[in-house]
Formats: sequence, C-alpha cells, structure tokens
Amino acid sequence: MDTAQEKAVIDKTPRGVFVGGTWRDASGGATFAVTDPATEQTLCEVANGTVDDARAALDAAVAAQAEWAATAPRERGEILRRAFELLNERVDELALLMTLEMGKPLAESKGEVSYAAEFFRWFSEEAVRIEGRWSRNPAGPGRLLTMRQPVGPCLLITPWNFPIAMGTRKIGPAIAAGCTMVVKPAQQTPLSMLLLADILRKAGVPAGVLNVVPTTKASDVTGPLFDDSRLRKVSFTGSTPVGKKLMEQASKHLLRVSMELGGNAPYVVFDDADLDAAVEQALIAKMRNIGESCVAANRFHVHESVADEFAERLAQKMGSMKVGRGTEEGVQVGPLIDEDQRGKVESLVDDAVGKGAKVLTGGERVGDRGHFYAPTVLSGISDDATLLREEIFGPVAPVKTFRTDDEAVAAANDSDYGLVAYVFTRDLGRALRVSEALEVGMLGLNKGLVSNPAAPFGGVKESGFGREGGREGIEEYLSVKYVAVDL
Ligand code: NAP
Repeated sequence: MDTAQEKAVIDKTPRGVFVGGTWRDASGGATFAVTDPATEQTLCEVANGTVDDARAALDAAVAAQAEWAATAPRERGEILRRAFELLNERVDELALLMTLEMGKPLAESKGEVSYAAEFFRWFSEEAVRIEGRWSRNPAGPGRLLTMRQPVGPCLLITPWNFPIAMGTRKIGPAIAAGCTMVVKPAQQTPLSMLLLADILRKAGVPAGVLNVVPTTKASDVTGPLFDDSRLRKVSFTGSTPVGKKLMEQASKHLLRVSMELGGNAPYVVFDDADLDAAVEQALIAKMRNIGESCVAANRFHVHESVADEFAERLAQKMGSMKVGRGTEEGVQVGPLIDEDQRGKVESLVDDAVGKGAKVLTGGERVGDRGHFYAPTVLSGISDDATLLREEIFGPVAPVKTFRTDDEAVAAANDSDYGLVAYVFTRDLGRALRVSEALEVGMLGLNKGLVSNPAAPFGGVKESGFGREGGREGIEEYLSVKYVAVDL
C-alpha cells in the first residue's frame, strides 16, 4: 500500500464535530491524535468534542425530531438505500481508513464495510414495514388501535473493534424508525465514523438527524446528556462494566436502553463432529478481527477423543498465519488495538501457562513496533485459568477437554456472559438438545460466524439485552402506543 494513497484517504476524511448538518471545530478548539496501531505513529488530529458540543448535538437532534418523525417512511428508506450504495462505491477508501486506525487486514475491513452497508439495505426495507394493529375489543364494544412511533432522540455509543458496522447497526434502524441521534464513536477509531457521517449527509440525511461528537472524554461529555430529559434512548455497544454504568445513568430519566456487551463464547466440538469443518470454522470464529470481537470463540471445549487432533490442526493453521500491518499484501493478522490490550492478552496467556497450559504455537509478542501478538493455541488448560472467565480479545485459542454432553453444556454455560456459542456435531438430536440448553442469545451450529444483518444479534446474561438487525432491530427504536376507540 502506498503512503500517498493513505495520506489521500485521511486528507479526504472530515475531522471535526458534526452538529446540525455542518462540520466544525470542537468548542475550545482542542484536538486529539489518532494513531496507527501497526506503526504507533500519529495518522492525524481530530476535534476533541466537549460537553458544549454534546449539548449542541442534542439540541440539534431535538430540533430535528418532529419533522424527521413526520417524514414519509419511503423517503427515510430511500436515504438508507442511497447510503448503502455509497458505502459500496467507496468500500476501498473506507476499508483503508479503517485498517489504518484499527489495524485489521484490508480484506477484513472491506468485509466489514460490506456487512455495515447491508444494515442500511436491510433497514431501508424495514422503514416501510412499521405496522400497527386494529382489533376488536374481546368484550364487544369498541376497538383497540395499536401504533408504533419513533422513540425520539437517541445517544448511540460505539466501540473501536468494528468502527463502522457497530454504527450502522444502530444508525440504520434509528433512521428507519424516524429517530434523531447523537453518536459518540470510540476514541481509537473516530475517522471511520466521521467519514460514514459525511456519506450519510451526502445520501440525504437532513441536518440535525445525525450528529457525531468524537472525544477522549467519553464520560464527561456524554454524562450531562443523561441528565437532559429530552434524550429518550441510549444504545451502547462496548464492555460490560461500562454498560452497567450507563444503565445507572439511564435510570435517571428511565431511558429506553439497548446493551450489546462483552462475550465469552464457548466453541464446543463433539466426538461425532466433522473435524475438517470444526477446524476451518474455528479459524473464522477465533481469528476474525484479530480475535478482537465480542463473538470471538473464547474457549474451545473439545471431546477428549478428538481434542489432541483438533488442537494440533488448529495450531498448525494458526501458526502459519501471516502477521503484519493490515495494509500489506497477504497479511491475515494485524496488530492489537493498543499496548493495554496486548498486555492483557499476554498476561492471560502467562497466567494459563503458569497454571500448566502447554503452548502449541505462539505465546509471544511479535516485532518491536506495533502491538502485534502471535496467533496462539494452548492445550491442557486448568479449571482456574483466568482466560476461561475473561474475554481474551486477542488471537489466543485455549483448548479444554470434556467427556460427556452434560459436562460440555455445564462448562459452556459456566460464564457470566451469554452472547454466542458454537456447536459442532452431526447428530441432529444432540444439536437441538444442546442448542436449547446453552444460555446464549445466538448459536452457530456447525458454523463459526453468526453475524447477519437479517438476523437478531444480541445476548443474554451479562452480554446485555436488545437486538440489532433482523425484524427485531427496528423495535429498539419504536414505542408502542395503544388507543382505546369508542365507535
Ligand atoms: P468500552 O471501553 O466499553 O468502550 C465502548 C465505547 O464506550 C467507546 O466509545 C468508549 O469511549 C465509550 N465509553 C467508555 N466509557 C464510557 C463512559 N463512562 N460513558 C460513556 N461512554 C463511555 O469497550 P471497547 O473496549 O471499546 O470495546 C470492546 C468491548 O465491546 C468488548 O467487551 C466487546 O465484547 C464489546 N462489544 C460487544 C459487541 C456486541 O454486539 N455485543 C460488539 C462489539 C464489541 P472511549 O473510546 O473514549 O473509551
């Protein structure tokens, strides 16, 4: 990748606060540096939004709400459709920008842009299917009229690991439903969201409907919005501890809340599984996004009769993956997002090894610049290894054995999280029994990837609640109103 191309894409990206349809500097004029996790060099400076900017953004969202709610659903759908097309036309540019600030390989960034765009297509189709009900009163006289209306101004907070898709999963249904919004992107990856906002502006989103406030002071800047009773909803994707804090803040004015939080996905391989498929899909479930995904397989529970073979084959494949800067040809594993994240991955591996785990491949940092960590497979994991409980968020696959189906289910469910699980078996009865028994919001059956804009994405337990995508996705942005009709 040539650096002129990298410079060109950064130069084209807006770097201000987006409020009321215009780009401007942060009030006070402060900026912050966005860095490339592969080189640790600064890519550019971005406006460091303040409380005043967040208030101005909410003012703009509130001012635009009534007219936006009254806009014809078809018109809102057409805007999303145009945004879908623009994202696809500009996939190369968006993908390069994403790789520069987040680190994932270019091919994966392109995949994310396409996936992100699909939410706009999906919700462009949903915008015109917001329906109500007309029914008879069971007691006889009168009728029951039910309608769905936009919730109102929303605060949407997104993480760095999927800088565009985690945004379109919220922005798409909010636009379709007729809600206005203030978006707070992650400080490590604001550029992708800023370019996305500019594309939405070009697609026809009216001034004030979408406002974006990048900042390094998330809590200070968004906190006062929770005190403002004009805000009606918060949708958050990020870590469980932050989600819990936001729920407390949201209780002040009883906001509608959607929480897409952390995961600790079990990947269960039974003795009758197609082992070729289980290994192939494990690579996707584990290594997509450098392992920095809420749906990443966090722990592999494999039947003792096939565990050694599975672990060795996975180690052979993961050990031969090319690690490097995501812009380079053929790279499959980029850097972790920052030094904290690499330190966390390293300490989880050290903890497991200290408690008896064997390193089949990896287990170390790579290079002297950038936050690279080698794809790692561990076997012989002890029950008290910390990585069984915590989200690893890195390219590390611990393989643990089980003997019986009950043991597998108990081990898989032994977590505070409940986002997704993966199950590999060719026995239909077992597949369905285990699917029912696992405490998760999503399940991949003989499949290492569940994300699909047409499906309801979300978790149970401490992975949160609410669903993004599917027919359920738009409901998060609609309130039900019932009218008792006297004929
Ligand atoms: P994070 O630290 O919770 O941050 C997520 C977002 O919240 C960022 O924009 C962050 O801003 C902001 N934030 C942090 N503290 C805040 C506060 N007190 N008030 C308001 N906003 C605050 O999570 P992350 O490290 O970026 O993302 C990784 C986590 O997200 C993982 O746990 C992963 O599993 C989860 N995730 C879940 C899903 C899902 O759909 N379930 C999808 C993707 C990721 P700053 O950037 O300024 O810190």
